Amino acid sequence: MLKSSRVLFQCLSKHIEVTVRTALVTRKVSAFSPNRKCQYHKSADKMDILFCDYDFVGFDLDCTLCEYHVSDMARMEYDVMADFLIGRGYPSDKLKLGLDGFGLDFIQRGLILDFQRGNVLKLDRNGGIMKATHGTKVLDPEVTVEVYGRRTTNCPFLARIKENMLSAWEPDCRSRYRLLLDYFDFPAGLAFARCVDHFDERGETDFTKCGEDTLAVLRYMYNRDHFADGRSEYFKRMRAEPSKYIRRSDPRLIVWLRNLHRKKRTFLITGSNCDLADFVATHSLGPDWRDLFDVVVCFANKPFFFTERRPYLSVTNDLKEGQPTENLSLPGIFSQGNWADLAHLFCVNLNKPEARGLYFGDNLVQDVFTPLKFGCCDTVAVVEEKNEDHPSREAVHSEFWGAMHARGSWWGNVIEIYAKASIPSMNALPR
Ligand SMILES: [Mg+2]
Repeated sequence: MLKSSRVLFQCLSKHIEVTVRTALVTRKVSAFSPNRKCQYHKSADKMDILFCDYDFVGFDLDCTLCEYHVSDMARMEYDVMADFLIGRGYPSDKLKLGLDGFGLDFIQRGLILDFQRGNVLKLDRNGGIMKATHGTKVLDPEVTVEVYGRRTTNCPFLARIKENMLSAWEPDCRSRYRLLLDYFDFPAGLAFARCVDHFDERGETDFTKCGEDTLAVLRYMYNRDHFADGRSEYFKRMRAEPSKYIRRSDPRLIVWLRNLHRKKRTFLITGSNCDLADFVATHSLGPDWRDLFDVVVCFANKPFFFTERRPYLSVTNDLKEGQPTENLSLPGIFSQGNWADLAHLFCVNLNKPEARGLYFGDNLVQDVFTPLKFGCCDTVAVVEEKNEDHPSREAVHSEFWGAMHARGSWWGNVIEIYAKASIPSMNALPR
């Protein structure tokens, strides 16, 4: 895939082309985009996607265009989580076991927390349980099948999530399960498991409180108001030492984006509030980051940005949300909004009745599954776990769970089905 990535960059200055494996794409097209006219160009052993088939190209920000020093960030995040949970009465000797050795190996994105049962689950490609723990202790496979059924058929909530992953956001699912989908919430798997171990030792049999407290810590850490008001220890530490946590992008990526911007309409869609997005993008892409995009959308509420029609809000010069606006124009920065209006804006600007989009993102539900499933655009998955030489390898890879995107795993299957291609890093593209 690295070879393919080089092709993409080299051809940007010519006709802009990316090559991906034939078998993978063929299956995706036949299974999931029946109504879309896909313009692929087959050859004997490969299939080329012409970048010039796309009119507008967009990106997620965190862990897509902006990479983090994942090990340092995970340690800091876990530390903040542990302090919060100790404040809620959990024992410090259990929560403060730290994030080295077993702790670091236990965390992984893509895991599912089952609050009531106190279990942490990794699904296989069919929705069965690939591996499970109760707290931090491995669950016997026979017990797992007994509890959940062979393909988690005994568990209607999980069945709903498997049927449509957006179900995980419905209130009754949210209060009972949590999908850990990125490098911001993934240490919560360990924090939750250690809380469950504590409840186990006390002889408790319902672990819902551990789940509620885990959700509470995530709300406290990532509440968008807390970046400005300083109430989140996570944001405080991030602001104090940005270069410890945020990686400066490869200058060649900036040049690549600048070249792309000359040839295509480009956009950024991030779930972060405008002030946080500006902070992160400035430290990764530089102070002129907004010049790289025609449209920037903050606090976008993915995945529902792609499925609902939330209005756009203007953004003031000091990066605060303003009034609802229907006056979208290029270049612009907005808050909230929706995909349908963005696509329409590009169509009008390009003077085309239809325009095709391509979107790069790391979140396999919000950035990869949803845009394709709901017919918005094609997607490219950014999967840092694919980088065997990742500088934060000890945090990104897990011997305990096996690879997040392993063949035969749920997320490996999602990538295979919904992404046109997958790459380990945006920074690898221009190399
Ligand atoms: Mg992201």
